[in-house]
Amino acid sequence: MAQDTSPAFPMDELDELYREVILDHYRNPRNRSPVPHADIASEGQNPFCGDEVAVQIRLEGERIVQVGVQGRGCSISQASASMMGELLKGKTVGEALGLSRRVREMLQGKALSPQELEELGDLEALRGVSKFPVRIKCALLGWMTLEEGIAQWRKGASTRR
Ligand code: ZN
Repeated sequence: MAQDTSPAFPMDELDELYREVILDHYRNPRNRSPVPHADIASEGQNPFCGDEVAVQIRLEGERIVQVGVQGRGCSISQASASMMGELLKGKTVGEALGLSRRVREMLQGKALSPQELEELGDLEALRGVSKFPVRIKCALLGWMTLEEGIAQWRKGASTRR
């Protein structure tokens, strides 16, 4: 069975419910199939922990219609990326960036309203990671990879014009 062997993450300190949500995404990552002919494609690494994430997105206009997320590494990085993939489908690129900003705020310990937390779905389970600064990079890896991919895509769009 998959186990998180990365250093210094006290999973025991998370609520039971949150731990279950995280481990479920880690063991059964969503949207694992690579997306062919993706409009946005990006790969990211977190050298501190050895985590890797790859993200592909197909767009119709500015709307995300297909998402692929692959990776390997600790449970926090992989669960966060899997949760991200679930949330992105149907969102616009702008909404995706808004979510990314919100996840970052949550991980930096900012208090979010119940509605803001609701919009983050399963990602709420990662709220406790804010107490472990060294693991925030793990939780943000998928999102930083997404932001990087969107930035590249925007740059490409502006040169095509
Ligand atoms: Zn990690």
